[in-house]
Amino acid sequence: MNEPLDVLIAGAGPTGTTLAIDLVRRGLAVRIIDKAPRSFDGSRAKGIQPRTLEVFDDLGALGDVLAGSSDYPRLGIHLGPVTVPWRMFRNRDRSTDVPYPNTRLIPQYRTDAVLHDRLGRLGGAVEYGRELAGFDQDGTSVTATVLGDDGPERITARYLVGAEGGSSAVRKHLGLGFLGETHDQDRMLIVDAVTTGLSRDRWHVWPGVQGRFAGACPLPHADLFQWMIRLSSGEEPPEGEEAITRRIRAHTRDRRIAVRDIRWRSVFRPNIRLAEAYRRGRVFLAGDAAHVHTPAGAQGLNTGVQDAYNLGWKLGQVLAGADPRLLDSYEAERLPIAAGVLGLSTKKYEGLAKLDPSSLRRGQDEQQLSLTYHGGPLAPTATDRTTTLQAGDRAPDADLGGSRLFDTYRGPHFTLVAYGPQAAAASDELDWPAAGAPLRRITVDDRHGFRRSYGVEGDTLLLVRPDGYLGHIATRDFLASTRAAARAMTPEVTG
Ligand SMILES: Cc1cc2nc3c(=O)[nH]c(=O)nc-3n(C[C@H](O)[C@H](O)[C@H](O)COP(=O)(O)OP(=O)(O)OC[C@H]3O[C@@H](n4cnc5c(N)ncnc54)[C@H](O)[C@@H]3O)c2cc1C
Repeated sequence: MNEPLDVLIAGAGPTGTTLAIDLVRRGLAVRIIDKAPRSFDGSRAKGIQPRTLEVFDDLGALGDVLAGSSDYPRLGIHLGPVTVPWRMFRNRDRSTDVPYPNTRLIPQYRTDAVLHDRLGRLGGAVEYGRELAGFDQDGTSVTATVLGDDGPERITARYLVGAEGGSSAVRKHLGLGFLGETHDQDRMLIVDAVTTGLSRDRWHVWPGVQGRFAGACPLPHADLFQWMIRLSSGEEPPEGEEAITRRIRAHTRDRRIAVRDIRWRSVFRPNIRLAEAYRRGRVFLAGDAAHVHTPAGAQGLNTGVQDAYNLGWKLGQVLAGADPRLLDSYEAERLPIAAGVLGLSTKKYEGLAKLDPSSLRRGQDEQQLSLTYHGGPLAPTATDRTTTLQAGDRAPDADLGGSRLFDTYRGPHFTLVAYGPQAAAASDELDWPAAGAPLRRITVDDRHGFRRSYGVEGDTLLLVRPDGYLGHIATRDFLASTRAAARAMTPEVTG
């Protein structure tokens, strides 16, 4: 008999594939299906934020993302005969606690390809041409109906995750509201095409009257630009090289510009929506299935990847015997973040329409490094803290002299970081279950950057979750308090 499936993932975009990678590396039995015949081939989401780069580092996909991306080019704002240069990001230097400080530009088709390749190297594979059509669930499993060329298949799994984008069949089947708004009248034509008559060292922007703008962003390591052209009310979106070139010339008043070899074209309507819940029983929503954004601010893909990264280890732990209430923390931690991000990216989009310069500048909010789960179910407020960090915050990197703390965190395990002799003694004594994610223990001292990165002043024991957030900080009562915090996230210690 086949082993029962642990998790069925519907949708192999960045969210579903990130989840599949994380679950497969935990040794779980996973299938990932996508109704499309092949990987998505448009440039759509092209900004990868620093926090997502850290996630990709942990998942073993960072090298290919860095190789396939570039820094953000400066904007060139065309105002009649004058072109005003504008820096969207102030490029930051790498620091001891933030190894990847800058947002990278990479078309989504390449990010998807990197993730699919990483999944393949771990032994997983996307099953294309297979559409999730419905499902039933009971107290122990979910049985999904999947349509493919060979007819319908019934797939039973312990959990189902709907990562199938904004029109999620899983969300609809659960009857969950998708609250927010769609701006039907406000449409944007997106075209990936080879473009002549434009320099590739700028993200060109042509503001227009009443917020009608056109932009052309050079895609790295390709001869393509991503064009974004805001359509007028009632305007028929142009199709084909000639019509699109005419439309661009009419807006830019530059007759040298021409597009050819159109690789992808889409008409996009800003959609700002949030699912009313992320979970019903054994079924979860993640990524665009749970929240959709405007493109401004480059948050959608990044938020989806981080949903998956939050959910993966929790599914792994509960499948290994941890208290199933751990899975409740997924919605509790991630839904408020999506709500906050939606407010943020919506503001940026409105600013873009009016060409408010602050909407063109990207800052710390978007980098997603300061997002915190503090105050959530796994990080109560009344616990110990350091001078800079609280439970639920991102665990920063630190230079350990010859190695980095992120080298220790990389992988599907928890990490126990001990600073000072009392903390080190408690670390030695902490028992850890054989089932589920293992524990790696490390003792650090004063010699390198740890003390400053982590704001520690005396003996401190820190439990770092598999997704790189602080599960617990103890500055006294090291063993008992750490044991209690671990208990909510792990199976029982036996034997
Ligand atoms: C113009 C534009 C620019 C953007 N720019 C950015 C940016 O710079 N940064 C950023 O972070 N985000 C950006 N976004 C948003 C980003 O593209 C999405 O947030 C991201 O693709 C969401 O990933 P996902 O995996 O959740 O869903 P998707 O990428 O939509 O993937 C869902 C997958 O599910 C499959 N599927 C659908 N229904 C089913 C079914 N019933 N059964 C099986 N499979 C199914 C689909 O074929 C698809 O492959 C942009 C979006 C647009 C339109």
